[in-house]
Amino acid sequence: MKKLFFAGAIAAAVAALAATRAPESNASTWIIVGAQVADGTGKPLESKSVRISGDEILEVGALEPKPGEKVVSGSGLVLAPGFIDVHNHSEKGLVDDPLAETQISQGITTLVIGADGDSPWPIGDYLEARRKAPATVNVMTMVGHATVRSQVMGEDFKRRATKDEIAKMAALVEQGMREGGSGLSSGLEYDVGSYSSTGELIALSKAAARHGGFYMTHIRDEADKSFKAFQEAVIISHEGSLPLEISHIKLATVGVWGKAKKAVSFFEQRRMLGQDVTADCYPYEAWHSDLYTLVPNKKYYDPASVERGIKDVGGPARVTITACKAHPQYEGRNLEEIAKSENVTPVALFSKIIADGGADVIGHSMKEEDVFEFYKQRWVMVASDGGIHSAHPRGAGTFPRVLGRYVRVRKLLTLEDAIRKMTSLPARRMKLDDRGVIAPGRRADLVLFDPKTVIDHSTFTEPEKLSEGIVMVAVNGQPVWADGKPTGARPGRVLTLSASQPAVPAAPTAVP
Ligand SMILES: [Zn+2]
Repeated sequence: MKKLFFAGAIAAAVAALAATRAPESNASTWIIVGAQVADGTGKPLESKSVRISGDEILEVGALEPKPGEKVVSGSGLVLAPGFIDVHNHSEKGLVDDPLAETQISQGITTLVIGADGDSPWPIGDYLEARRKAPATVNVMTMVGHATVRSQVMGEDFKRRATKDEIAKMAALVEQGMREGGSGLSSGLEYDVGSYSSTGELIALSKAAARHGGFYMTHIRDEADKSFKAFQEAVIISHEGSLPLEISHIKLATVGVWGKAKKAVSFFEQRRMLGQDVTADCYPYEAWHSDLYTLVPNKKYYDPASVERGIKDVGGPARVTITACKAHPQYEGRNLEEIAKSENVTPVALFSKIIADGGADVIGHSMKEEDVFEFYKQRWVMVASDGGIHSAHPRGAGTFPRVLGRYVRVRKLLTLEDAIRKMTSLPARRMKLDDRGVIAPGRRADLVLFDPKTVIDHSTFTEPEKLSEGIVMVAVNGQPVWADGKPTGARPGRVLTLSASQPAVPAAPTAVP
């Protein structure tokens, strides 16, 4: 690591020297001219030029190219800060495929991994490896609750933790935070996390809060008990004295369909009381998870419970298998189709698949009206819950989908507000003081796109099909995507929380 830092320092010194020796040459700066700038704050578009020097935005305004300066034309295009994806599952993808084509082609310049309670471990080792083999994009990580719980409890996790075990987990959360984590994430619908008590999560939240972190949660129930689970999340954040991010906010069963307004007013009340609550939402009506999540009471072999679970998501035709080790022939088909062809009931089929090792599934169980209602809230940001080589189209399409379908076609959001939800809002949550806004002195993470054509093309059958309309993407001042393909540059960095922001903004006015 030291060696790398020295190399960086030397390169910077050489560049500085070159600049002082040859002031007439402008090879060290480049300029994007004549774009409509959406600066990330939500301010109306303005025609401006942006000059970049090294990894920094040097000037913004009515600028003329200097002799020898590389010029990128922004004519007819929108220039925005790079998109920050606060819920991204590219832990492994960044290792295997650091070019991250599906990510940069949709304008993502920073991604946050370690969501849903699962993070790399040890965090320091993982981040160090990313520094040594950088990706095209910047990376941040959460400290996973299930990850530290497994470290302490091993295979014996199907119970409440003891006081001593919780103390050990808290020490690991602190270690993870010191090694570069941004906060605590939990996945309380999943196996390891679901056995924890609210008290355990409060104790671990306090540990994250001591290092300026926030609490990001896939809540305990995204189905009929959603409101109880929302309540638990705000209690953990309040008792732990740290900000709250509700992951992929949704209402995913028939019993709660149409209740987005009620959910919004619940969180609005907390925000009015000064609690720093935000959420993220992916722009799809279908989720991607494992088959177990369909039956919240975990009685996978009880026909009544399974039947209820399948009914709650709208029926067996709404559940599509994406991966099944024991039965690869099921992949791409829904429970109703498979049950018919196997001459069994969907309930019997469900229990059989669980007995054979389970499967990953897509559940088409959300209502568009609810997704739209969440998107209209100024404290709801865009995040993918996808990542490199995701089996769900959100992995390659989330950001262009919002710009194309929600902004241009449906006119649900203004372009400026959609950009704010992709840039300054997540930057604030991640305490990235120097990103998420186009202004002099900020890091040059930039996206140039065509507002008339930007759109996603990924589907459930072709989840990695690239999006269209993202013209150029720069990370830390270096173009990583241009002319419809990666440039090959991999300037991504490991980012951590900035120290300058307080851990707990007390005043309601500080909440976006
Ligand atoms: Zn999740």
